[in-house]
Amino acid sequence: MAFETIRKPEDIRASAALNDEIRARFTWADARAMLTGLPGGKLNIAHEALDRHVAAGHGDDPAMTWLGRDGARRAFTYADLAGRTARFADVLRAHGLAPGDRVFGLMGREPDLVVAALGTLKAGMVFSPLFSAFGPEPIRTRMDIGGAAALVTTEALYRRKIAAWRTDLPSLKLVLIAGDDAPEGCVALGPAMAAASDDFAPVPMDPEDPALIHFTSGTTGKPKGAVHVHGAVAYHAMTGKYALEMRPGTRYWCTADPGWVTGTSYGIIAPLANRVHMTLVEEEYVLEVWLSILQDERIEVWYTAPTAIRMMMRAGEDIARPYDLSALRFLASVGEPLNPEAVVWGNRVFGRPFHDNWWQTETGGIVIANTQAMDIKPGSMGKPLPGQVAGIVERDGDGVRECAEGEIGELALRPGWPSMMRAYLHEEARYAKCFAGGWYLTGDLAMRDADGYYWFVGRADDLIKTSGHLIGPFEVESALIEHEAVAEAAVIGLPDETAGEVVRAYVCLNPGFEPSEDLEKSIRGHARGRLGPAVAPREVVFRKTLPRTRSGKIMRRLLKAREMGLPEGDISTLESDET
Ligand code: AMP
Repeated sequence: MAFETIRKPEDIRASAALNDEIRARFTWADARAMLTGLPGGKLNIAHEALDRHVAAGHGDDPAMTWLGRDGARRAFTYADLAGRTARFADVLRAHGLAPGDRVFGLMGREPDLVVAALGTLKAGMVFSPLFSAFGPEPIRTRMDIGGAAALVTTEALYRRKIAAWRTDLPSLKLVLIAGDDAPEGCVALGPAMAAASDDFAPVPMDPEDPALIHFTSGTTGKPKGAVHVHGAVAYHAMTGKYALEMRPGTRYWCTADPGWVTGTSYGIIAPLANRVHMTLVEEEYVLEVWLSILQDERIEVWYTAPTAIRMMMRAGEDIARPYDLSALRFLASVGEPLNPEAVVWGNRVFGRPFHDNWWQTETGGIVIANTQAMDIKPGSMGKPLPGQVAGIVERDGDGVRECAEGEIGELALRPGWPSMMRAYLHEEARYAKCFAGGWYLTGDLAMRDADGYYWFVGRADDLIKTSGHLIGPFEVESALIEHEAVAEAAVIGLPDETAGEVVRAYVCLNPGFEPSEDLEKSIRGHARGRLGPAVAPREVVFRKTLPRTRSGKIMRRLLKAREMGLPEGDISTLESDET
């Protein structure tokens, strides 16, 4: 069913950060002009996010309000965060870490995580966030690839997920534990911060110096570490303003977990670079809690995700009625396809539509967006932001063929924007494969209509998006075949009304094992223990054989087509060689 375009009233268009004139005249110099920089053409993300605001007299402005699960509330000004991040940087230095060293964060939505991320950057070191719901295996793989020198985590997470294998990672010199106590071999963050100095100045960095490593899944092989640089902050500042309507003082709430790229780029860096007042909420989705936060914190800009929106929709159209949500002026969504129904539903329930936008770990920031000034075609991801040149292409040998309007092809971008990844850590060939014919190929299938709006069609590869988390089937399959009963495994995503997709595994058993409910439970339990609940398959199905290509690779797409009753067509001839 097609939905009518949602037209924006003139007053909203006029108040939007990005109008047609800005779009037409935009250059990257405009984005860089949003920063202050450091002498000699240097810069530091932490300086742009915090210290420059303090230097400009905004030290007492509210920077972050943290809302804890138990009703706790802590407020931080820009001066507070500047001071704490300086202390954190000093702690790292005092323990012998040097610029370029990699510091990993494994924590939920906690103030300490924000301080650790920006403190690491302040010290000129590289920060890499990990999702705290990961099991020990994904954590260990990522810290190993990243050559982790330090880890910041909580005691509970350390004991459950790190302690057993810590000594196997020789690069790991320092484990900082939030709070006042730490297990043996770790350092308690509280006393270390208290003893540190808060006059640590941000280390001047070259715009091309690495700042962040965000891990993302591949369909084959290990996870990929996408490397992002300090200069990316120009893009975060600009897109925060243009795509998310951030202004100094805006009451802003990003619901993403900082263990993923959205929670860092738009949960920490973009809002602080725009001097907004952000809210950090420890609690996962609980309808009444979320609505109360929107009301009580007077949230103006809300950046959330389709899975959460779909959960809200299930609760009905009256959910917002008891709340005063009059402060809300901009709603946005990212991470998975946003159903057109959800856009229209948002418009009815909140008086504002959700503005879908598109990006991925590799792009570092929002690329395609429905901005405040645009009319919305429900179901479309919007249009490329200023500075971005997008296309729909088809790989053709070493080059590409550009697709016509309305034709489905791979979404491609002209490289060169500041927050584009600069490498996959230690994997040059995999990185090189992302480019062809002068384009960066995103791995997503999409279509552009006659008005220049982009429409998401699906992934061109086998990656799975479940509740907004990107999962590589290979990582799940590898954990499954560690189970003594499993000979081989194939993992696919199947459509789910709420989570977008759910992970399902197909396994063939080793001789001597017979399918049974107990065995299914045991295999699922094994996967949960290794991978964590967010990644492990929800269902395990026994099969005698799995479909394979001539060269022996498991054909996940054929399996999926069969499961969904789709025509197999030419899928069966596809030799998957994705990255
Ligand atoms: P990640 O790298 O984990 O952020 O995942 C990026 C992927 O999520 C994209 O390549 C898309 O497949 C999907 N995605 C992100 N935003 C959207 C959106 N607005 N609509 C549809 N899919 C999206």
